[in-house]
Amino acid sequence: MLSENLARVRARIRQACHRCGRDPASVTLVCVTKGIAIEAIQEAVSLGVTDLGENRVQEAKPKRAAFAAGEARWHLIGHLQRNKAKDAIGLFGVIHSLDSVALAEELERQAAKRQQILDALVQVNVSGEATKFGCTPAEAPSLAQAIGRLPHLRLMGLMTMAPFVENPEHARPYFRRLRLLREELLRSSLLLSMGMSNDFEVAIEEGADFVRIGSAIFKP
Ligand SMILES: *Cc1c(COP(=O)(O)O)cnc(C)c1O
Repeated sequence: MLSENLARVRARIRQACHRCGRDPASVTLVCVTKGIAIEAIQEAVSLGVTDLGENRVQEAKPKRAAFAAGEARWHLIGHLQRNKAKDAIGLFGVIHSLDSVALAEELERQAAKRQQILDALVQVNVSGEATKFGCTPAEAPSLAQAIGRLPHLRLMGLMTMAPFVENPEHARPYFRRLRLLREELLRSSLLLSMGMSNDFEVAIEEGADFVRIGSAIFKP
């Protein structure tokens, strides 16, 4: 049941924070709603979920329309094509999947038109898997610099996906790599978006500020 699943996930977030001496309030749960019906998302929001994650612009449109403006903060966590940048800006307050200068420039153009400031995270493909989006760790500094020059984008953090592994402990090096990348950028204020249903506790131990959790919340 949704309320029980959610309570369990929240308890696990708190316990992970306590294990490593972090304040549970410093970790934001982004509830990932891809493939989930609007009614279930509304129930999650009624249970106190404040942040919702979708990975496709088209799928997010009708869902977003079912909620009032301030009811939730919407996060785009999936790959964004440049020709969808305009639509994405109307739907999402935070983009976790900024992975190229060209996309950043298009988002800047669209945000400027709307006189809006857009929060964005640089997605980094830490594992180097061909199936994953994101810039390489080597490209991240120049991409972060380029974003810093765009007045309507605010660089909010770094995002990564670890490879799927049976033992979440094996995801730790990828999360750690993202944290070290933040240190290399000398930007300790950047937030880290990392950790999914299978590995969020390890991600929190490695410093995750956003955890993106879907199936652990919406499983039957
Ligand atoms: C689907 C998805 C998630 C959530 O995955 P679960 O395993 O369902 O928790 C997190 N991040 C991204 C980028 C996703 O596409």
